[in-house]
Amino acid sequence: MSTHREETENTPARADGEFRVRATELDSQDPLAHYRQHFIGTDTPLSYLDGNSLGRPLKRTAEDVAAFITDQWGGRLIRGWDEQWLEMPQAIGDQLGRAVLGAAPGQTVIADSTTVVLYKLIRAALAAVNDAHRDEVVLDIENFPTDRYLVEGIAREEGLTLRWIQPDPAGGVTVEQVRQAAGPRTAVVLLSQVAYRSAHLADLPAITAAVHDAGALVVWDLCHSAGSVEIGLDDAGVDFAAGCTYKYLNGGPGSPAFAYVNSRHLGSLRQPIWGWMGRKDAFEMAAGYEPAAGIRGFLSGTPAIFGMIAMQGTLDLIEEATMAAIREKSLRLTGFAVDVFDAWLAPLGAKLATPRDPALRGSHITVDHPDFTKATVAGLWDGDVIPDFRAPHGIRVGLSPLSTSFGEVLQGMAAIRARLGG
Ligand SMILES: *Cc1c(COP(=O)(O)O)cnc(C)c1O
Repeated sequence: MSTHREETENTPARADGEFRVRATELDSQDPLAHYRQHFIGTDTPLSYLDGNSLGRPLKRTAEDVAAFITDQWGGRLIRGWDEQWLEMPQAIGDQLGRAVLGAAPGQTVIADSTTVVLYKLIRAALAAVNDAHRDEVVLDIENFPTDRYLVEGIAREEGLTLRWIQPDPAGGVTVEQVRQAAGPRTAVVLLSQVAYRSAHLADLPAITAAVHDAGALVVWDLCHSAGSVEIGLDDAGVDFAAGCTYKYLNGGPGSPAFAYVNSRHLGSLRQPIWGWMGRKDAFEMAAGYEPAAGIRGFLSGTPAIFGMIAMQGTLDLIEEATMAAIREKSLRLTGFAVDVFDAWLAPLGAKLATPRDPALRGSHITVDHPDFTKATVAGLWDGDVIPDFRAPHGIRVGLSPLSTSFGEVLQGMAAIRARLGG
């Protein structure tokens, strides 16, 4: 390439410089930028683009967990359960409901893993429908594996039929598809609000209404939406929801999940895993299972306290920052990533497997290229750029609004371009 050519308008070098200037501007104008310094590792050169699989820890979490070990666990020992820990699943659940889910108190509890919570909710929903003519569960082939597998297992246990929606893999389930799939034989519909691969943001209120019009109940998986998009469970009249706390809520590896059950279902419902912690008066240890009143009846075994302590730090930050501002930043981050994709990766044959319409997009983008393999991502990791690989040919670039900077996005996209020889 001649020197003369490099000086003309649209050369790669010039675009690089413009994006660098823009990333710096976006970071300096970002009203949430100061939150980044609260996270461990954000002062290193690493570009972390996988907070949607495992969020970064807060610096505060190291202190909170250390203090818990010394003062609470070490100091209070078994007394801690009565003094505070037994109430944490509901107390943190209420905070999560308020800060993240749009849920009034008494409907959210922290427990188990998402897989187990979904099992409990789907079985409870089926029991609530309790109509032999409704023998179908509607779900989609693009949902996260655990969601599909466990519904397949429940269908086998209960003799149900599965009705599969086939969404656009680069998009997601639409209201029209739900209207077509759900009908007089539908008992339960299980969907993800944000698709784990494409980041498609489903129209939760309209789909919930469509499911109800069909006389069925809906279970929403919020793993990729909790902490990234605004969610109004009560306003939409959602029946049930579950989600992870180790993704955008930074609860740490294996931190417990959350379950939401709309209060209109709480009086009558039973979940299928009867454990002592969900029993009325657990420490009575009496014969026979009688569920605790309200959302507590959705607990089964001993609560996982460490993960709740870790997620509380993030919930405090979210309440301060507000989900509205977090969603705004998320859209700026993904919008910037899409612009860089168009300029740098599309010319090298990459395809955007994420909706371009910001209203239909969660907080990551997925880039497909026939040359992307696990080894591509391993190479990126070796160079301190950490996205993740999604088969068959996708690199998923996750953007956590409280901890990701625009500079980090640019650094990551430049490394991906370099892997493609650009
Ligand atoms: C991450 C994720 C899960 C994980 O479930 P676990 O029980 O925590 O392993 C489930 N569903 C979706 C949609 C996810 O993105």
